[in-house]
Amino acid sequence: MFFYEMREDKTMFDTHVHLDDSSFEPDRNKIIEGLYKRGVMYVLNASSDLKSSYLGLSIARKYGFVYCAAGVHPHETKNMSDNDICEIEKILINEDKCVAIGEIGLEYSKILV
Ligand SMILES: [Zn+2]
Repeated sequence: MFFYEMREDKTMFDTHVHLDDSSFEPDRNKIIEGLYKRGVMYVLNASSDLKSSYLGLSIARKYGFVYCAAGVHPHETKNMSDNDICEIEKILINEDKCVAIGEIGLEYSKILV
C-alpha cells in the first residue's frame, strides 16, 4: 500500500480535501485521525461555499494538522451574496487556521449550463 511505501524522511501534505462534505459526517473524526496515523502530517480542506468555509474552519480548529481554505466553488457562485464575500474575507483575515483561498477559479471538468 502506498502509505507504507512512503520514505520516513518525507512529509506528506494533502493539499486538497473536502472533509466538510456531508458524506463524511458518520465517521469524519475517524477518517481524520486515520490520515494522521498513516503519515499525512498536514491537510488543507478546500471549501465550496460560505457554509463549507465555516465547517472547514471548525474542523481545522479541532485538529492541529488540519488547515483550511475559504472560498466559493465556481458552480456555487450563483447562490452566493455580497455578504458571503465579506464573510469569507473576515475568515481569511482573522483566522490563523485559514491559510488559503479556495475553491475559486474556473471549473471545466463539469460544464453546467
Ligand atoms: Zn475540490
